[in-house]
Amino acid sequence: MNKKNIENLNVSGKRVLVRCDFNVPVENGKITDDNRIRAALPTIQKLKSDGGKIIVCSHLGRAKSPDPKFSLAPVAKRLAELLGCDVLFADDDNIVSDNVREMVDKMACGDVLLLQNTRFRSEESKNEDSFSKELASLADIFVNDAFGSSHRAHCSTVGAAKFVEESAVGYLMEKEINFLGNAVNNPVRPFVAILGGAKVSDKIPVIENLLTKVDTLIIGGGMAYTFLAAQGCEVGKSLLESDRIEFAKEMIEKAKAKGILLLLPVDTVVIKEFKNDTEFKTVDSSAIESDWMGVDIGEKTRGIFADALADAKTVIWNGPMGVFEFENFAKGTIAIAQALANINDGTTIIGGGDSAAAVIQLGFADKMTHISTGGGASLEFLEGKELPGVVAVNDN
Ligand code: ADP
Ligand code: MG
Repeated sequence: MNKKNIENLNVSGKRVLVRCDFNVPVENGKITDDNRIRAALPTIQKLKSDGGKIIVCSHLGRAKSPDPKFSLAPVAKRLAELLGCDVLFADDDNIVSDNVREMVDKMACGDVLLLQNTRFRSEESKNEDSFSKELASLADIFVNDAFGSSHRAHCSTVGAAKFVEESAVGYLMEKEINFLGNAVNNPVRPFVAILGGAKVSDKIPVIENLLTKVDTLIIGGGMAYTFLAAQGCEVGKSLLESDRIEFAKEMIEKAKAKGILLLLPVDTVVIKEFKNDTEFKTVDSSAIESDWMGVDIGEKTRGIFADALADAKTVIWNGPMGVFEFENFAKGTIAIAQALANINDGTTIIGGGDSAAAVIQLGFADKMTHISTGGGASLEFLEGKELPGVVAVNDN
């Protein structure tokens, strides 16, 4: 990567504004998954040991104005526990104010301060210079380590970089981009991508881009039924995007023309009522009856997909194979996670979002080479797009 990183900085005695992605799930004031906070620790620790004054910022949730529900207070507490040091919390709905400036002025080298949720300011999502300047005025240096937010051009991810002396990417950002970038642009072959999840329409540019890169493309999950329909299968009540059938046909043709193996489910677990405790059976993908709905890949398919993965050297997986939230229909997703875990000599990368949640929830996290912390950001990366939050950082 041609971007400045934190190894290239001299932060001693300087104020460093660090954009992290602390958009974590909070229920009743408790953080239910702190992976994103853990992932940011190496950058904060490095800046701390180098003697910087570390001012951390992030958004949380879809706040449009100050809202106690989206306060970063629980994050400040958890961050302090994980760092094993005090974290000052600038609990100010304006994010930047005279009070906050005063707190920053009093910081000593190695101190860590967390600002309140940047989305409490309406300018944030519009990337308005006024708020970018305010943020930048708190610091000498800007470090973007928020991979999961870097596909958005906001004040705290893009704008602030314009108004500081120097900017760089953090360790997490570097790690994400190196893993995803190497896999997509410089893969050790065979390179297999597995796509699943709910909708074809969410992933059209990802499918298009990956079809120029992979040796094998595996499609499961809800999106598979649109591809099956494109091959003339009846899919009953399964998820179907009729307006994407033409696209699916084109992709099937494109894969054929390029000699890419495109695998679709040959059998499917079907149900009539969308719940865990209900009658289910496995049928051929070409024989889904009209009042049944596909919710998982069948056993034969699990075997075929696992075989296709066995000798892969690079794997990217985005999107669960079925409705994994229901225990009865998590088996396909588990089988694929197991197949990836069985790869000894290869790189296995999980796109963020629900795929990452599934792999972590099902207990396979430590078996994967890399689990991305960014859902939308990793998808945009797989589409081949440049991330604005990375572009904004100084080149090295
Ligand atoms: P990701 O966040 O990993 O990109 P998506 O958001 O596209 O994944 O899709 C995840 C959702 O897809 C999960 O909630 C899962 O229940 C759903 N899903 C997977 N397979 C099916 C299916 N056959 N029918 C309905 N929903 C499905
Ligand atoms: Mg999702």
